[in-house]
Amino acid sequence: MITFDEARAFVLAGCTRNATELVGLDQALGSVTAQEVVAAEQVPPFANTAVDGYAVLAADTVSVPTTLRVTGTVRAGMSGTDSPVEPGCAVRIMTGAPVPPGADAIVMVEDTEGSPTGDDVVVTATAAAGQHIRPAGDDVNPGDPVIGFGTELTAAHLGVLATIGVTEIEVVRRPRVGVISTGDELVDDGSDLAPGQIRDSNRLTLRKLLESHGFETIDLGLAQDDEGVIEAAMRSGAETCDAIVTTGGVSMGDFDFVKVVLDRIGEMRWMQIAIKPAKPLAFGTIARSDGTTVPVFGLPGNPVSSMVSYELFCRPGLRKMSGFAEDNLDVGVVSGVLDASMNRRPDGKIHFARVVCGWDMATSTYRVRSAGAQGSHQMAAMAAANGLAELPDGPTLEAGATVRVRLLRP
Ligand code: AMP
Ligand code: MG
Repeated sequence: MITFDEARAFVLAGCTRNATELVGLDQALGSVTAQEVVAAEQVPPFANTAVDGYAVLAADTVSVPTTLRVTGTVRAGMSGTDSPVEPGCAVRIMTGAPVPPGADAIVMVEDTEGSPTGDDVVVTATAAAGQHIRPAGDDVNPGDPVIGFGTELTAAHLGVLATIGVTEIEVVRRPRVGVISTGDELVDDGSDLAPGQIRDSNRLTLRKLLESHGFETIDLGLAQDDEGVIEAAMRSGAETCDAIVTTGGVSMGDFDFVKVVLDRIGEMRWMQIAIKPAKPLAFGTIARSDGTTVPVFGLPGNPVSSMVSYELFCRPGLRKMSGFAEDNLDVGVVSGVLDASMNRRPDGKIHFARVVCGWDMATSTYRVRSAGAQGSHQMAAMAAANGLAELPDGPTLEAGATVRVRLLRP
């Protein structure tokens, strides 16, 4: 058996950053930037009002109430230049509209009296110069660095880019991942089960996990029985994908053809890792026709094991390929306190228990409890869990113990 850290390091060393591509903002959510963005435009592009009200000269409102003559209206989208504000006058103005020439303050509607369509307005509160005016460049100015290299683009980042007129950005291409399930016992067509058969659930689970983490997937199918068929699926996956994920056939004493094929056409390392679940893992590469190689993650077949293995090895590796920094390959690792004891015995392994982890406002801590039966075939607890608690090698952890939890969902 090798340690968790050794296995992680081996997998991560085999995952290299994808090439970059120029994409439209519509395609960029969740990608990691491969360029810096410096603003070329000013935001806001002109001084405008933050409220609905009247553009005035602050000096006209020193003693209130005071009556000003309304000489015009400026709505958002108008230039405002043909509605200058003269002393003793006011111009009606709507949020986002440019401040007309001459005005140096905005009085909000709430600080006025009189009919909104009338010729006069009574100002009831003194305005300070600059009040409610958002100056040009109040947010961003030309030359401001707006997005750094290596930024994971959120909706807000895309909003900033849209604001400054950027329409495309260079990002690291996110990996496209082929998924194959393997095992002669598997059925995936909804037919009645013959004795000894089970339904393939891992392929769908893994594809949807991958997709929920922003990776495109290709269904490479269920590989059974036939070495030729499996090899063809692997080779076609290698040509069309940036990574291949298989489930099943990596345990000691497995007879699956996948192992035979991967050993023949790939460079695989078959590992036994000191963790529970997800002890077996194969990782390596297979070659494309152009001589480049594709990483292959051979995850174990037990449904819980395959998901845990994905979280611990595959997702970090794919994040590395996506351009995330080495210290940002794991997502949502928190420290939590056990509500009740969690059973285990010393066995030389780190256990990754399926848990429910919730933020407790009263104590400002994450509270952690088991999500149910912890067998590696028991998907009910996996589905109920929102985290994997790391139980270090040793005896049962008592209530109140602090554990590290990998949150599976935010
Ligand atoms: P293996 O890793 O091939 O030794 O499989 C371990 C266990 O996981 C066995 O009980 C398999 O039947 C089960 N298993 C393997 N692949 C799948 C799958 N795609 N969906 C559901 N169960 C599976
Ligand atoms: Mg098998």
